[in-house]
Amino acid sequence: MGGFNPPHRLLLGAGPSNIHQRVLQAMSSSIVGHLDPYFLEVMDETKKLISKAFKTQNKFSLPISGTGTAAMEASILNIVEEGDEVVVGVNGFFANRMEEMVRRWGGKTIPIKKRWGDIITKEEIENALKNSNAKIVALVQAETSTGALQPLKDIAKITRSNDAILLVDAVTSFTGVDLEIDRWGIDICFSSPQKCLNCPPGASPITVNERALTKIRNRRKPVSSLYFDFVLIERYWSERRMYHHTAPIINVYGLREALVIALEEGLEARIAKHLKNSNALVAGVEAAGFEMNTEKKYTLPTLNAVRIPKDVDDMRIRQIILDTFNTEIGAGLGELKNQVLRIGLMGINSSERNVIFALDAIERAFRIEGHPIKKGAATNAATEYFSAH
Ligand code: PLP
Repeated sequence: MGGFNPPHRLLLGAGPSNIHQRVLQAMSSSIVGHLDPYFLEVMDETKKLISKAFKTQNKFSLPISGTGTAAMEASILNIVEEGDEVVVGVNGFFANRMEEMVRRWGGKTIPIKKRWGDIITKEEIENALKNSNAKIVALVQAETSTGALQPLKDIAKITRSNDAILLVDAVTSFTGVDLEIDRWGIDICFSSPQKCLNCPPGASPITVNERALTKIRNRRKPVSSLYFDFVLIERYWSERRMYHHTAPIINVYGLREALVIALEEGLEARIAKHLKNSNALVAGVEAAGFEMNTEKKYTLPTLNAVRIPKDVDDMRIRQIILDTFNTEIGAGLGELKNQVLRIGLMGINSSERNVIFALDAIERAFRIEGHPIKKGAATNAATEYFSAH
């Protein structure tokens, strides 16, 4: 079989992002037992770090063993009971997936369907709650498939005043975009570390407040999944330390280190960095004659979806960028297949250097493909933006 030597790429796609060197180092440390006193300390530290990064006092803040999809499914199967009506914003690939999960776990969905790239308004949520018996609302804050950033603050107020639970997917927003669990009033929120945290997938941060836990503890029937049962998971992650499953110890090391790095940088500084680099990228793509897939004020700084002309083959563009620049750019997904390029600027990958590099790579790939765009227009506009800010 010989040596194992995967290419070292710059990952500017929809995730994973590149891994932080310190995370890699943490993940090459010695494994200990999942009930070793050392690991119990790591668990407690990780819980505290997750709470801090989510800006919450919730005791139930921990990593779910599995990728973001596991955290999504765990959230849904715990909170949704057979026959429950659930309002779901359906405006992208991951929003659609949440809707499907709600159905698979016995819920009845009240979908709010929007164009992929639009957001769900507070009026739409208010109407859906008024005209149904729904007591759960599920939304994606950062829709990776469309590049849209869903505002949540006002919607959280509405769900709270209607005595409903707000469940949020923050996979591509966590530590890259403003997210206030306690202040806004989000009841359940999950993420995944391979985006803004620059950590491999496998241990997915989640936080659940007492309102949601009370509903879960008082379910008419226990959850059908043993692996994702929050009540059982809590027994292992609380002082009781009751065995449930073997935690992915090395992934927890990595997540812990990634959270330490994020909090050292500071959440506000990170949010500002992601916004500035995205704004520069948008200035660049617009100067080159492209449009974003979203209204400007809803553009997601961590994942920038750029619309491309119909006669451009996005797969060829991506292949040229991969072959020539050893760099990954995301393709359109689902309804947006062949319509957008998705440029991820997440965590350490959100940098001035990568903005200029990505714009230059795109310009060159378009030229090679016979779709010349004005030479240097994109990189000049981004450079000007950086000089002015
Ligand atoms: N939700 C969103 C918004 C995502 O972008 C993703 C993955 O990209 C997921 C959920 C699923 O996460 P994973 O692929 O880690 O299972």
